[in-house]
Order: sequence, then C-alpha cells, then structure tokens
Amino acid sequence: MKKIVNILLDVPLNQSFSYSSEENIVVGSRVLVEFRKNQVVGFVWQNNVDIKSLTFDIKKLKPIIKVFDEVLDNKIIKLVKFIANYYHYPIGQTLFTCIPSLLRKPQTYTLKLEDNKLLKLKAPKVVQKIHLNNEQQSVIAAIKQHLEAFYPAVLYGITGSGKTEVYLELIESVLLKGKQVLVLVPEINLTPQLLSRFKRRFSNVKMQILTSSSSGLSRLKGYYNALNGEAQIIIGTRLAVFTPFKNLGIIIVDEEHDQSFKQYDGLRYSARDVAVLRASSMKIPVILGSATPSLETIYNIKLKKYELYKLTNRAVETARLPQIKLLDLKTYPPNEGITDIALENIKKCLDNKELSLVFINRRGFCPVITCYECNWISTCNNCSVNMVYHSSTKELKCHHCGISKKIPRTCPNCNNPYLQAIGQGTQKVEEILNQKFPQARISRIDQDTTKGKASWEKLYNKIYNNEVDILVGTQMMAKGHDFHNLTLVVGLNLDSGLYSYDFRSTELLFTQLMQVSGRAGRGDKEGLVLLQTNFPKNELYQYLINHDFAGFANYLMLQRKSLNVPPYSNYVLLRASSSKIKSAMDFLLEVENLANKIKTNDINIFSPVPAIIQKLKKKERAQILIQSNDRNKLHIFLDKLIVEVNNIKNKNMVIWHLDVDPLEL
Ligand code: ADP
Ligand code: ZN
Ligand code: ZN
Repeated sequence: MKKIVNILLDVPLNQSFSYSSEENIVVGSRVLVEFRKNQVVGFVWQNNVDIKSLTFDIKKLKPIIKVFDEVLDNKIIKLVKFIANYYHYPIGQTLFTCIPSLLRKPQTYTLKLEDNKLLKLKAPKVVQKIHLNNEQQSVIAAIKQHLEAFYPAVLYGITGSGKTEVYLELIESVLLKGKQVLVLVPEINLTPQLLSRFKRRFSNVKMQILTSSSSGLSRLKGYYNALNGEAQIIIGTRLAVFTPFKNLGIIIVDEEHDQSFKQYDGLRYSARDVAVLRASSMKIPVILGSATPSLETIYNIKLKKYELYKLTNRAVETARLPQIKLLDLKTYPPNEGITDIALENIKKCLDNKELSLVFINRRGFCPVITCYECNWISTCNNCSVNMVYHSSTKELKCHHCGISKKIPRTCPNCNNPYLQAIGQGTQKVEEILNQKFPQARISRIDQDTTKGKASWEKLYNKIYNNEVDILVGTQMMAKGHDFHNLTLVVGLNLDSGLYSYDFRSTELLFTQLMQVSGRAGRGDKEGLVLLQTNFPKNELYQYLINHDFAGFANYLMLQRKSLNVPPYSNYVLLRASSSKIKSAMDFLLEVENLANKIKTNDINIFSPVPAIIQKLKKKERAQILIQSNDRNKLHIFLDKLIVEVNNIKNKNMVIWHLDVDPLEL
C-alpha cells in the first residue's frame, strides 16, 4: 500500500508537502522529489501520514523519486522546529539554513571518513598543564558537578583572567566521558592563538573547524564527522551551532557578547541563544564566557535562569589591568586627529621596544570626500551613505554595498580640482604615524588587510615575533588577542557611540573599549590606555577608567528598565524594502492597520518609519517596531500577523521580513 510522506523543501512557505512512497522512509531522510516541474532535494519531515489529513485525492500525490541518505537526526529536527517557530521563519528554509549547502544538491556523497574510531584520551597526558589558580579551580570544580544535565553557566572573567584554561579543563572532563564538544567563537581567523592552544592541549583528539569560509566539502565532512562521532571537538562560528552530534557533552560560547553571533539576513538567529536552546533540549551544560557579558545574559542571571561564575584577577601573576586615562580634546587639541601626548607615549613605547596599538573603528583613509565650493560629497549611488576613500587603491568604496569607483580628479559637480578629505580611518592614521615615526614598523589590522586566513596568520606571526612596533586597528583588535609585549593602547574617534539613536550603542562602545583596553599589560609590563574624547565626564568613560564593567552594566540595566527596552522587553522588527520608499511605507501602513486590528493589549505597534540607512543596495527601506513584555503572546500575535501580511495585495512587490530580537534598529 502507498504511504504518505511529508517533505520539507527550500521554499518560503511555512509548510511541508505531501508525496507518496511505496516503502517506509525514515524521518530525516534526504530525498529527490518533483516540485513545480523541477527535481529538487527535500527532507522527510513526517512519515506514515494519516490519509484522512489529506485534503485531496491520494492518487494525485507525486511519488518520491529517490532516497539519498539519512543526514538529520531527531535532535536536529526538534531544533529546526523550535527555531522556525521562534524566528517565525518558513520551516523548510529554516532546515535548509541549518545544513551544509552541498546537501542541497541532488547527489549522494561517498565521503571517505577517517578510519580510526573515537580516540580515547590518555590521562594524564604529555602536555604540561598550567597550575590553575584558586578562582579557576573552584569554578571548574563547581561546573563539573553539572556535566550530566542542562546547566547554563556564565563565565564572567576579566580580560586575561584565564577563561580559556577553564574551558580546556571542562572540555577534558567531557572528552574523558567519551562525549563530544562544541566551541563557538565569533571569528575563527582572528583567534589563531585559541586554536593553537586547543591543538597543543588536545594533540591526539580529532578536532574539526567549521566556519562560514570553510569550503563546501570541508563543511560537509565536518557535518558527517560530528554526526557519526568521528570528530570530538568542533570549533566553529555561528553556523556551527546547527552541527548534528552523535553524543554532544558540552557547548562553550566564547565571547558570548559578540554581535557576530547574530545572523543578519535570511534566518536571523542568534547562535548564542540557539546554543542555550540546544543545550536545554539535549540536557547538557552550556558555558557563556566573556569579560563583558551582554545585558541579555546579565538579565538571565538576574532571573536566575543562568548561573554566574566569576574570575576577578588576571591569571598571569605579574599582569595587572592597565591604567586607563582620558585625554580631554579641549585640553589636548589634536593635530590631524592625534594628540601630541598620545604621540609622545607611542614614542616612549618605541624607545622601550614595546608594542603599541592605535585603535580607530573605521577602516579606509577617510570617511568622506567633499568639495568646499559646491558642497558635493562622495555618496553612494546605491545606498544613503558616504563612500569611504581608500588611499591604497585611490578608490571610493561603499562599505555597505561594496561597490567602488576611482576617486574623481575634480569635483563631479563643479569641476573644482581641490577636493577635501574629511575625518580619518585606519589608512590615514597609518600614514600619519609613518610620517611621525619613519623608523617604526607599522602594521594595519582591519578587514582590508586581513582578508583570508593566510594574510591574517602572517600578520599575526609578525606581531608575535616582535616584528611590529605599532599596530593600527579596528574593533578586530578587540577580540581575545594576547600579545605580551603590548603595553600601550591609544583610542581615537570614540565619541560617536555616546549619542546614538540606537540604545545599544553605549553598550557596544563600552564593551569594545573594555576589550581593546584589555589587550594592554597582559605580560609582566604595565599597560597604559589613552582615550581621546570630547566628553570625558560622560558616565561611560567614568566607569571605564575604573574598569567597572559591573557598575556600567548596572547603570545601563536601570536605563533599559525605565525605558522598557530589551532585555526588559521583547522587540521584533518588520522590515520592508522596495524600489520606492513610498511603496514600502504604504505597505507598512497597511501592516500597521492589520496589526492594530488583531493585536492584544500586551502588544505595542509603533508607526512605520524609514530605516536609518534608508537606501541600501538600491532598495528603499522602512520598518515597523513591534514590542511586548510577554514573549508568548508576542509569538501568537506574530503567527497571526504573518497570515494577514501574506494576504495583502502586494502590487508593488514589496519585500518584507521579520527580525526577532534585532540587534540593529
Ligand atoms: P582569557 O581567556 O580570560 O582572556 P586566557 O585563558 O587567555 O584568559 O589567559 C590569559 C593568559 O594567562 C594566557 O597567557 C594564559 O596562558 C595565562 N594563564 C591562564 N591561567 C593561568 C594560570 N593559572 N597561571 C598562569 N598563567 C595562566
Ligand atoms: Zn553602497
Ligand atoms: Zn564642487
């Protein structure tokens, strides 16, 4: 007798599709079916479906053409269901986001997996272990009590306090139980040090690295190796959170505050939040580590959902937190963006053969080129932002849509040959420092110089081998690096985050400055951090000079509470885009009307507004903010809203999506 099977396909509809099969097919099987006259890959979602649930004749069902393999386990299926519901994203597309792209292809893979079975750890091992300090030991002992159940723990340790050593110790315990380990990091290429520490510590353990830059095949192999228990440690970026495991024992999310755990298109998930969810459904511990935990995480600690562990001292005994000093730009007027006193300190560092870091969170030469005669500025044709001047290529580049063009010789508007460069980015700072210190070896670290794993590793080794005197870098430098010779950090152009439309900007600025300051003085030499600002009295800087993250977080939490913004309330953005802003706004006005009709009292609908960067990649964008203090009611409302919005006669082809827990307003 024919059986009915429901299949998930990569289509923007929140449903599965029924097909017929002669045989019993296991849930999770990858199959080939015909859909809208094409042969496509799908996944069995339900088998043995009751014939009564069909709304049409069983004879009309198309057959399953072919069964490839079984690549999904129950746990992943459960996860996909939950994520699709939480982010209100079509179930089929959610599933296809979670799997390696090669599995979308209608073909079977015969990957030769490495022969050796799961390696048993030999304990104690050859590696020389660091003697852990009391704080580290007590954290490890406490968390080890909870390895057999869901246990969300926050490891809040100041920069350099030895969090990684704690991870390594916990990982070893889990491996010795024969279980697998998942480590999520914000950006793997930026932390070669972390990798080498893992490799050194677990030299005979199978490790797999999974990042968005991994090739299709290596991602597929990683997927299989984790699924069949071959890989014992998986280290990866956000998409690695969907890896299936045979026997996962712990998840570690390093630098949990980092915004790159959030996906900004398609399925807009937070890998940190998904990690906690996975751990909960798999009944295993999850460790969220950071020197600057996100306010969301702090809120969950307050609610007693997460357990808090602290490391309060730098692990290297001689290392102290650096002294942070503010340079009031009214007292120390800058010359081309840098104060004399900052330059003097860099000079001192050079004389002492120590490394200094100049931090400026903007790449390129300068953020805008203008004509003083007619006020022309270098804006992007595709986006409502300015194009950034890159001196190395003599190009104007849009950092949003990526297009570039040669810098004009004269003003495109009035032919004035004297165009002015305003402001500064990493390239300009590098140029200024080159002029001031012609003997110094200066390296720039930003997205432009670190493209690809190889170039970053090369740069990294140079720094590590003391072949660099001055680093000029963006927030990339804030991430977990450990350079023992780095004693001075100079921060330029910091103030823009102080007064922003986005309530998260102060949290982000503080976190970045705290992290970047944390790079200084990690060895036995004292560190100094000099921050140039026009607003030295601002609370943010006052908490910062005292290294008082907890104090600032508390201050922000009170602010968030009084404003009733996240984490105290839940946000969802409905974004719409179109070739004309009016079409997007008209569409959203209709959405607003519908939303107000179906909403309950606990839901607030804000009026549609154009996005801050209104035009992006030739699309005009607008958005509606939906807010509620009741997460469950919000989910019920969104389900209803989606049905209504899909029924709008969308004659202007407006494209829309929901962003649940957005990080950008
Ligand atoms: P974090 O991850 O908190 O920034 P790390 O684990 O990278 O800190 O440790 C910072 C530095 O201190 C590293 O060089 C590490 O080898 C060293 N370290 C960690 N724990 C100890 C310890 N107990 N004794 C001595 N050095 C330590
Ligand atoms: Zn652009
Ligand atoms: Zn002009």
